[in-house]
Amino acid sequence: MTGKPGGGDSPVSGRRGEIDRATSLIESARNLVIFTGAGMSAESGIPTFRGEDGLWQGYRPEHLATPEAFERSPEVVRSWYRWRRDLIEKVQPHRGHQALASWCLHSGKKSCVITQNVDGLHQRSGCPDVVELHGSIRHDRCHRCGQRALDLDAVFCSCGGPLRPGVVWFGEPLPEAAVDRSLEQIDDCDVMVVIGTSAVVHPAAGMVFRALEIGASVIEVNPAPVLPAPVLHISGTAKEILPRIFSTGSVNGENPA
Ligand code: NAD
Repeated sequence: MTGKPGGGDSPVSGRRGEIDRATSLIESARNLVIFTGAGMSAESGIPTFRGEDGLWQGYRPEHLATPEAFERSPEVVRSWYRWRRDLIEKVQPHRGHQALASWCLHSGKKSCVITQNVDGLHQRSGCPDVVELHGSIRHDRCHRCGQRALDLDAVFCSCGGPLRPGVVWFGEPLPEAAVDRSLEQIDDCDVMVVIGTSAVVHPAAGMVFRALEIGASVIEVNPAPVLPAPVLHISGTAKEILPRIFSTGSVNGENPA
């Protein structure tokens, strides 16, 4: 049941047992929670933070995504986010996003996507219920009073405070409403599918361990799985695996790209 790093390149037939088990767990789920991280969007063309292409002009993303970085060099942080926003606008959800959204819409089951991603690709693919644990890159808010900004080109809020991306940075608390909603869903779930996260960014990563604690079956989709037993590992990418395990009856579980 353990996956091997890099096994995403092996033929699907080698992972048939895991894929079949995951499919039947999903089919028999009463309440399914899907928990996603940066790897979910990698095949749409958005780099993960820790991947080889995560660097930006020599900066490590972990050093830019902090309140201290913004307070020290607001223009550097703003340009990094402008670059990420422009990139996100140009890319599309891939067929893994689409298979997941289609399953959530048509399976008739209770389900919810909890994401650490800030790119909005789950919403753009039509997912009906998405909790954004780390906020959204698609709007700004005031670093001083918290008010949401309407103009993405504005630099200061009406209160005089500096405007910043509407995301949660390292060292900042998660939005309370998103945490409450996530815990409510997780405490009631019987199956969780974890996709494309290194599960090292806390407290979000703790949500996966909470699902294990309450006895939910946990499935991990990742080319280099990281979660401990008894998680069912499927060593592969989101784009490759999700259309197979989130099948709503189309041939071979494939959705159009
Ligand atoms: P991470 O960069 O720490 O880990 C990414 C994980 O995805 C790794 O385990 C990797 O093996 C896996 N992965 C890579 N390609 C994959 C693929 N094609 N399919 C499935 N899995 C794949 O990401 P994280 O755990 O989400 O933590 C990083 C933090 O950075 C999060 O808080 C997130 O908010 C933020 N972030 C968001 C985005 C985004 O919104 N798209 C992008 C980068 C980082």
